[in-house]
Amino acid sequence: MLNEIDNVGKPLQEFGAKHSATGTTIFTVMSALAHQHNAINLSQGFPDFHIDEQLSFLLGEAARTGHNQYAPMAGLPSLRQAIADNFRKRYGLGIDPDNEITITPGATYAIYTAFTAVLQPGDAAILLEPAYDSYIPNIEMNGAKAIPVALSAPDFKVDWNKVKDAITPKTRAIIINTPHNPTGTIWDKSDWDSLADIVRDTNIVILADEVYEQLVFDGLRHYSVLEHPELRQRSFALYSFGKVFNCTGWKMGYAIAPPAFTDAFRKIHQFVSFCVNTPAQFALASHLPTETATPVNMVMQQKRDHFLSLMQKTPFTIRQPALGSYFQIASYERISDMPDMEFAQWLTKEYGVATIPVSAFYKNKKDDKLIRFCFAKKEETLNEALRRLERLSAKQL
Ligand code: PMP
Ligand code: GLN
Repeated sequence: MLNEIDNVGKPLQEFGAKHSATGTTIFTVMSALAHQHNAINLSQGFPDFHIDEQLSFLLGEAARTGHNQYAPMAGLPSLRQAIADNFRKRYGLGIDPDNEITITPGATYAIYTAFTAVLQPGDAAILLEPAYDSYIPNIEMNGAKAIPVALSAPDFKVDWNKVKDAITPKTRAIIINTPHNPTGTIWDKSDWDSLADIVRDTNIVILADEVYEQLVFDGLRHYSVLEHPELRQRSFALYSFGKVFNCTGWKMGYAIAPPAFTDAFRKIHQFVSFCVNTPAQFALASHLPTETATPVNMVMQQKRDHFLSLMQKTPFTIRQPALGSYFQIASYERISDMPDMEFAQWLTKEYGVATIPVSAFYKNKKDDKLIRFCFAKKEETLNEALRRLERLSAKQL
């Protein structure tokens, strides 16, 4: 009853916390520090090079020709069709653009919306750590409990027994991420089979964060949850155009899920964002079917290789080259004993290179003396960053 709620005497500016991550996200913190110290920003994940000229032309053209009003709630039909065609071409998958695809303002929003569609207060959701920092707050904002399960260092493989042990009758969702931010690992088909074995007799829903699906290197390939017929029936697959077309600031993404899941997703989406940037949808619908001269994975692999060869001249240790994503983690154990947060700040201020401390990807801020570099940068940016890092010497601190 309304009259039972007593807000009298509560301070105007005091709001109850909706989640446990009380600080500012590490991506904002490190990018701001990079800016403040005029450092090269290899922290937050975004490319520093131009987007395809055709794509920027298409965006301008869409605005100029009058596509400036609300788009349909589920997304522009031509964009959803282009996505379905693209998945048929690349994966041989049939996806119904009307009932299985929803365009979203970025993948972070899609993850939040999928959790909101699925979770009820009191539920639990499992995530594998280290993990992208929005997962836990997104779970908690829905009144559910986030259950982190650690990936096994140093290769960051999934320990399936640990995942199994974390499941309780309250578990309603598991979120997974491949290719993985921040470790650059990728799942193979057997990982999906293991997941299927574990959830088979439960009502657990899978959120598959596949935003880096097109950034896989060394001739390997991404396996999508959508290719697993059994898991596909219980999954949301979540994507970002920002990662494919180097336009993270456009904040454009999409969710693919079976019709009943899509229906539940849209029930939330229609009252949170309702629809997504119209000119950007027109631009992407025209651009998606076109072939680029060099596929984005080749571009990024070249950058990874260049970055790795430059890193050899520094005292950082790289245990495993990234197989996917645009991130590389490295150990600074030969340089310093500082906690990783302190080390990343010191490196930004003293050496002019900003990175992300990997402890930020753990709920309990587990510190393994690792930092994450984003190598999605122009060659000259990487060269200058590494020229600065070459000055580091082993155990100078
Ligand atoms: N998931 C992961 C693992 C990410 O690294 C990112 C980074 N941006 C996202 C989701 C979010 O993508 P978007 O920018 O489209 O919200
Ligand atoms: N996903 C990007 C990263 O991991 C950043 C996204 C963000 O700033 N929230 O760096």
